[in-house]
Amino acid sequence: MLIQSTSPSLKNIRDKVEAGKRLSLDDGLLLSDEKTPLHEVGALANFVRERKNGNYAYYNINTHLNATNICVYRCTFCAFRSDLREAKGYAMDDAQVIARGQEAVDNGCTELHIVGGLHHQRKYEWYLELVRLLHTNFPDLHLKAWTAVEINWFEFLTKKSVRTILEEMREAGMGSMPGGGAEIFHPEVRSRICEHKADASKWFEVHRTAHQMGVKTNCTMLYGHIENAYHRIDHLIRLRELQDETNGFQVFIPLAFHPENTGLSHIKKPSSLMDLRVMAVSRLMLDNIPHMKAYWIMLGIGTAQAALAYGADDLDGTVRHELIYHDAGATTPELLTVDQIRRLIVEAGREPVERDTVYNRIERDPANPSKWFLGEPITVGA
Ligand code: SF4
Repeated sequence: MLIQSTSPSLKNIRDKVEAGKRLSLDDGLLLSDEKTPLHEVGALANFVRERKNGNYAYYNINTHLNATNICVYRCTFCAFRSDLREAKGYAMDDAQVIARGQEAVDNGCTELHIVGGLHHQRKYEWYLELVRLLHTNFPDLHLKAWTAVEINWFEFLTKKSVRTILEEMREAGMGSMPGGGAEIFHPEVRSRICEHKADASKWFEVHRTAHQMGVKTNCTMLYGHIENAYHRIDHLIRLRELQDETNGFQVFIPLAFHPENTGLSHIKKPSSLMDLRVMAVSRLMLDNIPHMKAYWIMLGIGTAQAALAYGADDLDGTVRHELIYHDAGATTPELLTVDQIRRLIVEAGREPVERDTVYNRIERDPANPSKWFLGEPITVGA
């Protein structure tokens, strides 16, 4: 027996995990049951985490750019969006976009994470030219831009196909895509929290098309609101199925719901124990996705650190200008320094590795840390 465990009900799952066999929906539900000891679920997830990623824990140096918060939709979980005439509504101009790119480069960032609202008075070209402007001025900065929901909005605006839009974005400088907008795929939940925006089949069509074009993407799940364990496992299995087909997802990010200032503010935010269980179950179900990210902005720093022993192998980045979850009451800092994020990783008993957006190792010039170059390839396990 490779994994220390005493729970007889987990024997079948433990055997499958050790043998590298796929877990079923029922396995996922058993692992999600609060009566199943969390530390044993964590030990199973840690076994898989170390088999895939050894002792590495990844981070990157990144900045967020939310070009507008004005949005036609009203997802009930969202505290970020604004109406056009609200005082908090904004849309960045070119000078602000350039200033954000310059700030990122000056601080040694390798990535800009670009998402935002669906502004009904902005044309598709505004979004497209924003990518081009950044890429032209900062060609070394990787632009991780637009969720599937935004691509679907551009489709609506232009009547162009998903593939044409992605080709135009790639030509303008988009390097990869974030995994937002997934929320919970099951219609029982999706129709109650974001009934108007791209449904599950559209979300998957966008990611499938990106993968077929060789564009890597991330994937997410928003949990801890009105969904139950069945909806979460169903969500994970849908992601696993597309990954079987395309192998284009790099990392899964479970996103803990933050209720403040949202239409679901009566719901308590998920506990740290739930956060760790969702992380561990996700690691175990998503046997074909290489990385699991503990997004410290949402989890809080302590839980994110603990998650490195519950399946996670990535802490996201140093992050600057995060608005979406701070608007929803996240009390985490708005950025971590490189020293802070590395110390968190070392304290958790892991080896920090700086990566770029697509998981190449990054090395820095110690005399000038804002200068970076690609390091030796990262060798990843099974
Ligand atoms: S989650 Fe995105 S699409 Fe939904 S209201 Fe917020 S900004 Fe708009």
